[in-house]
This record gives sequence, C-alpha cells and structure tokens, in this order.
Amino acid sequence: MENKEVRVRYAPSPTGLQHIGGVRTALFNYLFARSKGGKFILRLEDTDRTRYDEKYVKNLYDTMDWLGIDWDEGGDKGGEYGPYVQSERFELYKKYAQELVEKGEAYYCFCDSERLERIRKIQTENKMPPGYDRNCRHLTEEEVKANLAAGKPYVIRLKVPLEGETKFTDHLLGDIVWKNEDISPDPVLLKSDGFPTYHLANIVDDHLMKISHVMRAQEWIPSTPLHVQMYRAFGWEHPEFCHLPMVNGSDGKKLSKRHGSTSLNEFRARGYLPQAIVNYVALLGCSYEDGRDIYSLDELAANFKLEHLNKAPAVFDYKKLEWYNGQYIRALSDEELYKWTLPFITGTGDASLEINPENPQPKPKVGPEYSGVALGSDGEPVCVDSSMNMASADVKKKLLELMPLIKERLHFLTDAAEMVRFMFTEPAVPANSEIIPKKLDEAKTKEVLEKAKSFVSEIFGMSHDDAEALAKKYAEELGIKLGDFMMPVRMAVTGSRISPPLIGSIWILGKEKACERVEKTLAAF
Ligand code: GLU
Repeated sequence: MENKEVRVRYAPSPTGLQHIGGVRTALFNYLFARSKGGKFILRLEDTDRTRYDEKYVKNLYDTMDWLGIDWDEGGDKGGEYGPYVQSERFELYKKYAQELVEKGEAYYCFCDSERLERIRKIQTENKMPPGYDRNCRHLTEEEVKANLAAGKPYVIRLKVPLEGETKFTDHLLGDIVWKNEDISPDPVLLKSDGFPTYHLANIVDDHLMKISHVMRAQEWIPSTPLHVQMYRAFGWEHPEFCHLPMVNGSDGKKLSKRHGSTSLNEFRARGYLPQAIVNYVALLGCSYEDGRDIYSLDELAANFKLEHLNKAPAVFDYKKLEWYNGQYIRALSDEELYKWTLPFITGTGDASLEINPENPQPKPKVGPEYSGVALGSDGEPVCVDSSMNMASADVKKKLLELMPLIKERLHFLTDAAEMVRFMFTEPAVPANSEIIPKKLDEAKTKEVLEKAKSFVSEIFGMSHDDAEALAKKYAEELGIKLGDFMMPVRMAVTGSRISPPLIGSIWILGKEKACERVEKTLAAF
C-alpha cells in the first residue's frame, strides 16, 4: 500500500447545491492528493435519476472553480479511467453485477413490490428490524432460469455472509469490527430498471479508477462494512478508508440551515472570499504543524497530513470565518478588491445568487438601491443618480480611490455597497436628531457644524496627520471630544453614521461637494 500512487476522489451526487460539508470533503481529498503528488478525481455519482438536476452539476464545477480546487481527472476533463459520470457507465455495472451472480456472490431476486411491502408491514408490526427476508437467495437454478425466461423483472442482490464479522481499519478511527448479521440483509446492487445502486457503482468505480484512499464523511461508515464485503466478493483489494469527522453547529448538532449559510452559493452571495473559506474549512477538523491561522491553498497542500485529522467533530464558527474574511479582504490589492466588490456594489454576479429565506442572517444590502452604482451595458459601473453628473470613467476612478479606505472596514464584500453610497448619490439632509452627538446639545452641535465648514475646506492639500491634528484642534477649541466633532461632520458629508474613514472620504468627494453638503446641513439645522 505504502508505495501505491495516491489517487483520491470527490464523488458527489448532483442532487443538491454544494455545501460546506461536501466542500470540506473535496478540499481534504484535494489537499491529500497534492501533498502526496497524487491525483484528485472528480466523479459524478448521478445514479439517482429522480433527484438529479443538471443545475447541480453546473453548481459543482462552478463551486470548485470558485474555490480554486482543480481536479486532474473527471467531470468535464476526462482522463484515463473515464467516463467519470456514472450515468455513462451503466452497462459496466450490469456486467459486474452479473459477474457476482456467476461467482455465487450475488443472486437474482424476483420479489415484487407488493411482497416487499408485505414483509415491511409484518416487520414493523412485530417490531422486527427492517430488511429483505432473503427469500430468493434460496431459489434453485431451474427456478431462476424459468423466471428469467418468463421475462420476470428482477434485481440483483449481494449475498451478505450470514455469520462472522467484517473488519476494516479506518485511518482515523482505527479498527472497526462489524457483525455480518448487522449488515443490511442482501442489499440490491442492480435495480430492476438496470440502474446500479450507489453501493455497486461506487465500488466498481473506486476499483476501476484505482482509488487508493476513500476519504468521506463519517456518516458513510455504516456503508463501509458492506463495501468491504463487496470488494471481497469481487476478489479485489479495498482502498484505505478515512472517515472524516462531522461538522457541527455551535449547539453540537450537525451543521444545517438553522445555523446559518451552508451552501457555497449562499456564502458567495453574502460576500465571503473563496480564500477565506478554503483557509477556514481546511482547519475544520485538521491541524497543521506550525499552528498558524493563515495558510494559502498551496501552503495547505504542502502541509496537509492525514495524521493531523481530529477524531472529534469540528464546530463551524461563523465568527471565526468572518475574521478570516476580513483578513483576506485586507490582503487584497485595491484593484482586486474593486473586482471582488463590484458585483455587490452593482447587484450583479455573486450578489444575485439565491439566499435561503430561512437563514437567520438578514439579507445583504447590495446593488444600486444601496450604492447608487449600477452596471452599464458595457460592463463598466455607472452612477444611477443623473444629478451627480458623473461620467462612467469617473465612477470607476472614484470607486478605485475608495478601495483603500473601505478595505479597512469591510467584514464582508457585501458591506461595500452602502459604504460607497455617499460618493454616488446626494444624501438627504439628515434630521437634527441624527446629527446631535449623545453628549452634545443643539447649540454646541451648531458650533461644530460652523467649524466643520472651515475644516472640510482647509484639509485639502494637507497630510493625513495634519488634517487629523486640525480636527483635534477644532474639537479642543470647542471643548469637546474628537469623536463628537467628527460625528456631525460625517453625518453632514456622507449622510450616514457609518462611512469609510472620514478625512479620506472628504478628499475623494472633493472640496466643492463636501463644503456644499456641510452648508446645506447647517442651513437646515
Ligand atoms: N455519492 C456519495 C455522496 O453523495 C459518495 C459517498 C462516497 O464518497 O462514497 O456523497
């Protein structure tokens, strides 16, 4: 086993959007392959045709691309052991199911749905464990032949040994022993419509695709003894198993919509950066030698070790992820931040992905309604308020100028929309109650606004330190705290209590506009 090439796979069923749990499995497989110079394979397990939807296939590729997790074989890329889409391999599974029948390891079952229903009823009424009663396991060769000749529909079932135990070693959990009588009684491998079940397709593919390690969520453990039995029945060596710890919410229950976002689309729509998600998710149930917080995808790949996986369930901490997001936002260049925030400012791209209405977090305030900026037909930002008389080139220029300022304040990319608003719409003159700081009265606030007039015109051409010193000087002259001076200025200039750092904002807005807004506020005060 030691010298075998590492070949691992992520094998989702396209029956839902990619979520944190799946992405974690994909990422760990990817990191393990990269750390060992092995191959990462993406396989589509689309045997469940009733829940299949093409949009989930697109979502899978799109999510992997967004995260920067690339694969060596599979999906739309092909490879030596393809096709990697199970629905394109149905003939193969049939052949392998027949092979097990010929070897005496599987059998035809002709029980119809009424009979199975009857058994189920008896079992529930008598509080017996559910499962097939192995009726057809004992048919004679002649009976089988006659049924087949009569064209009776059939399924193929595995002959699970009636006695003994199944043992396997899990990388993380150690030796696992399962009584064979506890394995589901003779599960179906091939359905009556000729489609394989998950178990058959999964085992055949892992074998044919030379998968060395199966890394998947711990919820698959109950299937593994059955899989081990199938490998034995085929006479194949089974891959190594490593079942990953669960990802729980803060209440210790499996992470679900109740805790917050779980689908990657939702994280994207809520303004997370892929780098932040990758970094955080890679640490969910896994540690790295030097114990840092920040790792790039390449660093993670270089340092990933199976031995560093934790046995205990991981707890998904939204606050920690938010911290990562802030770190990665601040690490972006201004141009990169512009590229990442533009969809949220204009309400396009990632900003328009679906948000789960049951999510406890409020809907992000994104798009022209909040920012005053829309996306023009040429893909460049335009100002929606025509009274601002702003050419498209200026909108982009102003946005780029704002990037270093907002970078310090963003928790999420979505926050950018409201933060840039003061630049692209004329704010309504704020009500007095909104302008007056808690510790000041109306008369004092009026004095602040008077001084603000000089302040906003004098700071142009100054260094930031000098502009700040001037604000302090004015506050001292008024006998008030710096914050109580800045707050009314901020309200007058930006129309909001939350804005990017004020001095920089005033500079970008320009002397004329800034003075005009202070004067308007003062006149209405
Ligand atoms: N298709 C299964 C899933 O949806 C694959 C499980 C496995 O990795 O064996 O997760």
